Amino acid sequence: MKNGIVMLGAPGAGKGTQAAVLVEKYQIPHISSGDMFRAIRKSDSELGRRVAAIMDSGALVPDDVTIQIVKDRLSKPDCQAGFILDGFPRTRPQALALDEMLKEIGQAITIVPYLHVRSELLVERLSNRWTCNTCGSVYSLKPNDAKVCQKPGCSGTLFRRPDDEPATVAERVKVFEKNTAPLISYYAERGLLKQLDGEQAVANVTASLLAAIAAAA
Ligand code: AMP
Repeated sequence: MKNGIVMLGAPGAGKGTQAAVLVEKYQIPHISSGDMFRAIRKSDSELGRRVAAIMDSGALVPDDVTIQIVKDRLSKPDCQAGFILDGFPRTRPQALALDEMLKEIGQAITIVPYLHVRSELLVERLSNRWTCNTCGSVYSLKPNDAKVCQKPGCSGTLFRRPDDEPATVAERVKVFEKNTAPLISYYAERGLLKQLDGEQAVANVTASLLAAIAAAA
């Protein structure tokens, strides 16, 4: 069975957390455009500096740059068995480009799970989000909680993503509502959308997600 899964949801809805579970279960690659841009911004290059400035403002990287990066990744052999896209597409031109690139590589989208979370909760979640600088584990912490990774054998230091600072968070949620929310109807019209309640406990979201994928396959 091939799975072409496109995780849709606002920043902080839990796409990355759920994608990690799907990677384990289906052994297919997790393609996170945000992770790819975080790697690019670390590079000492003109593109790296441009991407860093865009990310820190909460805006979107231009479609042409984003589409090319995802296209290169999707054409790698490990995507032949399926893929989990997380954070892409985020605009209508990106969604149209994705349809084209999948046609070219003989792949298709099986399901678009949409994790729905109210905006006010998103802002709170992103403001409490901390990431391990060693293994990448993500935590939701209160201001006084210890900022140390709890994963066995890791003990890395936790940091807050620069774009999770409160001023940027509000902008990112606005950008989602303006540019990405229209994709909900784009995929609903194609019969691919499955809306899930992203405000449930993580394990319950996972259970509904796995049931939806099994039903779509
Ligand atoms: P994320 O980790 O998915 O929240 O992405 C972090 C940031 O990377 C976003 O706020 C954008 O600046 C940039 N980014 C990630 N994916 C895309 C995309 N599909 N289109 C444009 N910009 C993106």
